[in-house]
Amino acid sequence: MRSLYFTFAATTIGIMLISFLTAFFLSNTYYQHYLKPDNDEKNTQIAKEMSTFIEENPNVDIEQYLVNVADLGYQLYLVQPSTNGVFYGSDFRIKEIPDTVIQKVLGGETYHGMLQFPRKTFVTGFFANELTNTIGVPITYNGETYALFMRPDIEKLFSEMHLLFGWLFLFTIILSIILVLVGAKYLVQPVKRLSEATKTLSSGDYIVKEIETNRKDELGELTRSFIRMAEKIQQNELMRKEFISNISHDIQSPLSNIKGYSGLLNNILSRDEKGMEYLDIINNETNRISSMTNQLLLLSSLEHEEHMLKLKKYNVGRQITQLAQRYEWKIHENNLMLSYDIPDVEIIADERLLDAVWDNLLSNAIKYNSEFGEVEIVLTELEEDIKVSIKDTGIGLDNEVKKHIFERFYRVDSSRSQEIMGSGLGLSIVYKVVELHKGTVLVESNENDKGSIFQVILPKR
Ligand code: ADP
Repeated sequence: MRSLYFTFAATTIGIMLISFLTAFFLSNTYYQHYLKPDNDEKNTQIAKEMSTFIEENPNVDIEQYLVNVADLGYQLYLVQPSTNGVFYGSDFRIKEIPDTVIQKVLGGETYHGMLQFPRKTFVTGFFANELTNTIGVPITYNGETYALFMRPDIEKLFSEMHLLFGWLFLFTIILSIILVLVGAKYLVQPVKRLSEATKTLSSGDYIVKEIETNRKDELGELTRSFIRMAEKIQQNELMRKEFISNISHDIQSPLSNIKGYSGLLNNILSRDEKGMEYLDIINNETNRISSMTNQLLLLSSLEHEEHMLKLKKYNVGRQITQLAQRYEWKIHENNLMLSYDIPDVEIIADERLLDAVWDNLLSNAIKYNSEFGEVEIVLTELEEDIKVSIKDTGIGLDNEVKKHIFERFYRVDSSRSQEIMGSGLGLSIVYKVVELHKGTVLVESNENDKGSIFQVILPKR
């Protein structure tokens, strides 16, 4: 396995090498094209000035003069025909120079050793401390001809070169920074993709798309584990839905048996007061389980058959009005006032599912209302949509709670809500059905005890 550590280390070292080599290549080009000729010209000028000075001042002691010049930071070699040359200043590393060169200079030519210095030496040639890497000029002194070879010594060269080194250093740093920024982006890319996939997963979409899995490092391993985990969750989610659907189905038949037998008991115990009271309790509880399993069944069928909406054109205004009429007795029982403004509007939708939506919203507006409260239903026809708002004057919902009410099994944890019968499934059904119809549900509720408004917006077709 190629580790992330290895990739990181190799990338960093690679960046350093690339920066260094690029800087070296550039400074080499600079040396070959500008520095070499420039240096040759500058030093030829200096050598010629030395020669002119000696020729114009025949009284000066040539040896003393050259010692002084050497002190200023030059390496010198003075040759007279048929004698051994004398060196001044710091030593040359290689002291050989072809005799032909010496003869040419003695014959009056200028030797451009710096310009002719071999190309293969790169920028290091600039510092090569060799006798051939010099400028040679002829000098006539007291009637005799000499050849003087000179070059600045390393110390002088370095002090002249600090600007170039400065640039080189700066360039290497800038290049490294750019490469590190690009490289880091490349390294972070898969982490970013993974983090996006995690977000999708946490939003409930368990199908992980477009995520690279064939990396051989720790990130590849992490990605593969992540995908396995997502598949496992998806599998569990499916099993959970199936389980809920099966169990709610299985509860239905014992429930109808209980209902049947309690009906029979009712006939037998019709004169026994205590017995009737217990029977009432049994009936209430049975109804409660029954409606809860119905809701569970509906919800799980919605999750299973996402694309099986039975769409048809029907009058939604009439549907809501009929529902409101069905609830009238319950509204009276709870000492509430119901008002509605519902015109006839036709939409294309799944009638049975929308019935569950209005039913849940209206029954909540009744259940969570305060005594002598009000319920108001308004249907508005918009250009493309319909808007149904169901307003109550009940206990209201605070902001924190609002975020969760559409979750399955969520019930508000207040003592008032706990007294009221419910499963926490109604609003999940509302949400799911509206979502399947490509609509939206909004809740407005500012402060506790000021009531709430649930608004459903649905496209007409
Ligand atoms: P339940 O079966 O508990 O009513 P729902 O999913 O319909 O389940 O509602 C979830 C929770 O949201 C309820 O328990 C209740 O606390 C809160 N709620 C729903 N409708 C209203 C409303 N009109 N006013 C105040 N709270 C409400």
